[in-house]
Amino acid sequence: MPVTLLCPRLSCRAILRVPDNVRGQRVRCCECGVSFIVPTENSKGPKGVEPPKKVEQDAGK
Ligand SMILES: [Zn+2]
Repeated sequence: MPVTLLCPRLSCRAILRVPDNVRGQRVRCCECGVSFIVPTENSKGPKGVEPPKKVEQDAGK
């Protein structure tokens, strides 16, 4: 099913529909022409919030 995205350019914010097989690939906004990478799988979890990456601590120094 198609993925609905907002154009990342703040002055544009066009709603773009792309097929979900372009996830992780570069697409181009049909309104302003900016190209950006389609985020992968954002349907699960709270939108736009990524869990913080685990930072390896070298505690036993
Ligand atoms: Zn745009």
